[in-house]
Amino acid sequence: MNPPPDKITLIGAGLNGPLLAILLRQRGFEVEIYERRPDMRRVRVDAGRSINLALSVRGIYALQRAGLWERMRSIVIPMKGRMMHSPAGELTFQPYGQNEAEVINSISRAELNIALMNAAEEQGALIHFNRRCTGYDLTTGSLKLREEETRKETALSTDILIACDGSASAIRTAMLKKNRFDFSQQHLGHGYKELTIPAGIRGEHLLEAHALHIWPRGNLMLIALPNIDGTFACILFLPFEGAESFAALASPEEVLAFFHSRFADAARLMPQLAENYFANPTGSMVTIKCAPWHANGNALLLGDAAHAIVPFFGQGINCGFEDCTTLIDLIDRHGPDWPLIFNEFESARKANTDAIADMALENFIEMRDRVSDSRFLFRKKVELALEQKYPSLFVPKYAMVTFHRIPYSVALARGTVQERVLAELCDPIHRIEDLDWTKADQLIHRNLTPLEIPQ
Ligand SMILES: Cc1cc2nc3c(=O)[nH]c(=O)nc-3n(C[C@H](O)[C@H](O)[C@H](O)COP(=O)(O)OP(=O)(O)OC[C@H]3O[C@@H](n4cnc5c(N)ncnc54)[C@H](O)[C@@H]3O)c2cc1C
Repeated sequence: MNPPPDKITLIGAGLNGPLLAILLRQRGFEVEIYERRPDMRRVRVDAGRSINLALSVRGIYALQRAGLWERMRSIVIPMKGRMMHSPAGELTFQPYGQNEAEVINSISRAELNIALMNAAEEQGALIHFNRRCTGYDLTTGSLKLREEETRKETALSTDILIACDGSASAIRTAMLKKNRFDFSQQHLGHGYKELTIPAGIRGEHLLEAHALHIWPRGNLMLIALPNIDGTFACILFLPFEGAESFAALASPEEVLAFFHSRFADAARLMPQLAENYFANPTGSMVTIKCAPWHANGNALLLGDAAHAIVPFFGQGINCGFEDCTTLIDLIDRHGPDWPLIFNEFESARKANTDAIADMALENFIEMRDRVSDSRFLFRKKVELALEQKYPSLFVPKYAMVTFHRIPYSVALARGTVQERVLAELCDPIHRIEDLDWTKADQLIHRNLTPLEIPQ
């Protein structure tokens, strides 16, 4: 008779925890999740913490593997490109990809979280809410939990523990005390705040629904993602300090004056702007890199707990979901040989999560600054033309990250080479008709090898 499968304890019922629970339950593991917050299906989520996410191919692939994508389709809005809003209110649309299939999908974080928790419970995972992990003994596997309502502390012994407890992970804090644990965190000088553009009187979207709207303003930026109820979830990115900053906007009058001068067309669509602004918290953004991600063959960090990134490539959860499918593939390959699985997991993922962390930081400058530059838009057009002609050699970095499951480290390395090729081709010209295709052919064949595109 086979021994009973290991019991797996997950910390955190955010986005990665419940998805991983589903995939583990489908393989017969007993799974329990401990979550510090109350159950958001019964208690209203905190104001300003329901930000929309852009879901792309890596996230969709993981949801397909869990058998959930068909269910999710009804709650996403495909966004075909960026809609840039100039200070004068002019609109410029820039498609993300080559065709209608190359879109990113706006989804409410809360809706996605609820759907994942429902599916995890349907599969037989147990979720304990209001249970905060306050410590973990790496040697004995003993977990400390605090019941948030009564403040009662309990200890729980665990076989296998996977920390999906986000960027401020309590399990990572326990690992920090370990000898030779590497850790770095880099906070952005910018924070973010969630705001809303309400639906029109007939429930319609007041801006183009199938686009990610961007108001790029150099050092600051506003974005808006569509919701299925006709509203837009907006995020304002501002420095914490300085002339135009969160610190400088202390009264409703200052907020309104700032919006009317910097984002006038958006401000006209936000009747509750000042109320929203002061009701919602200001969040901070951090890049976290650490190693090793596992301890003693029985505890592992996954998702933001292992590698928090800034949100400007829209990849945090896509990357976390890719962690889940990578881990599951290793379990399928090796059986429950946890030390081997955890080692191989980190080897497979670390270079890739470091790469997307760096690309996400770079993309902040692209989004807030370069997307409104006509030379940048011209290069994007040339990129798409090159991809059409050389689909297995030249795939734009954005597409490698967003529309393919090409490893992030490959996307970063090839993206750098492609930037140089693009500069050589684009710098001397201003019209796509003047592109020197002979030079393009030479540069591409000389610098790029055929790309392996995972299906
Ligand atoms: C402004 C913003 C915009 C973003 N946009 C995108 C996007 O467009 N696309 C994208 O892919 N990603 C995006 N992200 C990133 C994405 O939100 C994260 O990568 C993702 O939520 C990480 O999932 P996770 O499950 O690892 O952590 P989380 O979603 O943070 O979940 C962690 C869970 O653990 C719980 N927890 C924490 N500590 C404890 C404890 N001690 N004990 C018990 N429970 C605990 C928390 O309550 C939470 O429920 C964005 C992030 C931000 C901030």
